[in-house]
Amino acid sequence: MTKIILIGPPGAGKGTQAENISQQYELPCISTGQILRQEIQNQTDLGQKCQQCIDNGELVPDHLILEVIHTRLLQSDCSQGYILDGFPRTLRQAQALASSEVLLDGVIYINVRDEVIIERLAGRWIHLSSGRVYHEKFNPPKVLGKDDLTGESLTQRKDDKKESIQRRLISFREDTQPVIDYYLDQSRSSTTRFIEIDGDRPLNDVFTEISAFMNSLQS
Ligand code: ADP
Ligand code: AMP
Repeated sequence: MTKIILIGPPGAGKGTQAENISQQYELPCISTGQILRQEIQNQTDLGQKCQQCIDNGELVPDHLILEVIHTRLLQSDCSQGYILDGFPRTLRQAQALASSEVLLDGVIYINVRDEVIIERLAGRWIHLSSGRVYHEKFNPPKVLGKDDLTGESLTQRKDDKKESIQRRLISFREDTQPVIDYYLDQSRSSTTRFIEIDGDRPLNDVFTEISAFMNSLQS
């Protein structure tokens, strides 16, 4: 039973590494961003409520996210643990998670510089239905514009444009940095372990460090 949080600025590589961890450690990856993009794609009520916030690079209101995560964590695949990617992003979300008595094993903070983020997001392509992430230069698909597993077309995210990226960076500093400080503090007085990883390195190097951390949790 391993419960992990991946936290960091947009473009740090959370989704990419979540997929790697999910495969290697057989844990489901719960990405709130991915869940919301599916809701938008399916034109559900929730999707309609969130679309403008997401496209503008703003955070979706806490009460909506908390409902999404509450429902998702009750599903049976989460009974043996999970990786949370993109949640919690505000102190209120972190406190709600703590008060639902979720005991976290580890918090992985992937950190990268702003200049790196812009280049990463500008070249990001995603497979909408699975959430698989590619980069045209750093992690290209086997066939240009197509998902490796399904062959379906890849898309670029509407919020990966300049103005939205700037807003997401501001929101990361204002809303999410305090969450990182909260977990760092918690790690000093609880069993939840915290690691900061330099995400400005090749994908495999970042994963090697994450794997070492994961293995240390299980031993
Ligand atoms: P996040 O989920 O943190 O927003 P992603 O995992 O979607 O970040 O990664 C953002 C972009 O950067 C993607 O296009 C991905 O392929 C690429 N990327 C992720 N990690 C690295 C890395 N270590 N080096 C180079 N590119 C990376
Ligand atoms: P991501 O895929 O993690 O980059 O998230 C994409 C967008 O979804 C974010 O910019 C927010 O608009 C929204 N979102 C995802 N997770 C959360 C969260 N935990 N709290 C608020 N908004 C979120």
